[in-house]
Amino acid sequence: MDLLACPVCKAHPLELYSFRESREIEEGVIICPKCSRWYPVLVGVPHMLPDEMRDKNQDLTFLEKWREKIPLNVLKRCEWAMHS
Ligand SMILES: [Zn+2]
Repeated sequence: MDLLACPVCKAHPLELYSFRESREIEEGVIICPKCSRWYPVLVGVPHMLPDEMRDKNQDLTFLEKWREKIPLNVLKRCEWAMHS
């Protein structure tokens, strides 16, 4: 999977956490280490959308689904991003 730069702050490289994979990552999360934004990977496709284009309900569903698998430090950053 090619990781693009963060669409908001242009940081690169980004951190990738895999939750489910077969030959390649199917679901996971991409974290920007610079601005702490997170981006979901759904069905093998990274969704690198800036804040104004994101679907809050989809984000919440994603966080709930993978809450157990998201590393705690990442989850804190996710929640920080959700509430800002
Ligand atoms: Zn960023």
